[in-house]
Amino acid sequence: MEREKPNILVSACVEFKSCRYNGQCINSPEVRGLMEYVNFIPVCPEVAIGLPVPRDPIRLVQGSDKSVLLVDSENGKDYTSSMDQFIESFLNTLDTVDGVILKGRSPTCGIGNVRIYPSHGKVTQLHSKETGLFGRAVLERYPEAPIEDEGRLNNLSIREHFLTRLYTIHQFNQLTGTMGALVEFHSSSKYLMMAYNQHLLKEAGKLTANHDRLEPAQVYRRYRSLLTNMFSQPPKIQSTINVLQHLFGYVSKNLNAKEKSFFLESLERYRHKQIPLAGVTAQLQSWILRFDSPYLARQTFFQPFPEGLQSIFDSSKGRI
Ligand code: SF4
Repeated sequence: MEREKPNILVSACVEFKSCRYNGQCINSPEVRGLMEYVNFIPVCPEVAIGLPVPRDPIRLVQGSDKSVLLVDSENGKDYTSSMDQFIESFLNTLDTVDGVILKGRSPTCGIGNVRIYPSHGKVTQLHSKETGLFGRAVLERYPEAPIEDEGRLNNLSIREHFLTRLYTIHQFNQLTGTMGALVEFHSSSKYLMMAYNQHLLKEAGKLTANHDRLEPAQVYRRYRSLLTNMFSQPPKIQSTINVLQHLFGYVSKNLNAKEKSFFLESLERYRHKQIPLAGVTAQLQSWILRFDSPYLARQTFFQPFPEGLQSIFDSSKGRI
């Protein structure tokens, strides 16, 4: 059955429940903004294993055998085993997960930069490079899904990369399993993929041509793996500019000198971070509509995620 919206697993303390150790809920405009566009699956693993709200903070400590334990920071009570059991059974109950947003730096939900200590009590942290127990399990279980910590989503570049990856994988997850559906997906994603990784785009193209006559299920498995690699890093600015120039090549012969020069100036302004990508793609889209090119018009490059999620709000740590 077609799912219109992507499924996102989310830490319940981000916008959903006041379940943090101190009884608070994290305010996240980015998660709030997503609510009408995705199906959220909120979970608080600490509450799910029976911990109360409020509670002592828990923390990661280095076990004697280099293992990492999840313990009460005050009395040292060890919750590692009950958390491991919960994680295993909970993740097994989930259907498709297209993306994940977790509370940053939490010893349970964090996906990086989680502090680890030598023991409970008043001691100095060892370092901050660990993942939380739930965060690590999620990273292992959903290698193809975009997984972010909530705080990073206020950076425009990171947010757009997350949304692009989310909606691309969601679209792929909904394909019917036929070669025709895959070819159609590949065709409409061509310029988006070109911006991300031209080499892997070519590999994906060869897979969809299926000269080796593989079973569709095998082609899909390989394609999924390529897709995961392709979208593992945000696109480079120069690659995006190459795609814009490529698309401009389709329409430029129909444009007058002033239109051409305005576009090329916009491209330079985009290169120097003076305008957002949408400031350039909007011009291209209007010409594509005017010159009636259905193949270009349906390219997901122009709108990799719903228009309502477009926002130039940025933490100012990323480009616009
Ligand atoms: S970070 Fe995770 S475990 Fe901690 S309160 Fe939030 S949802 Fe619960």
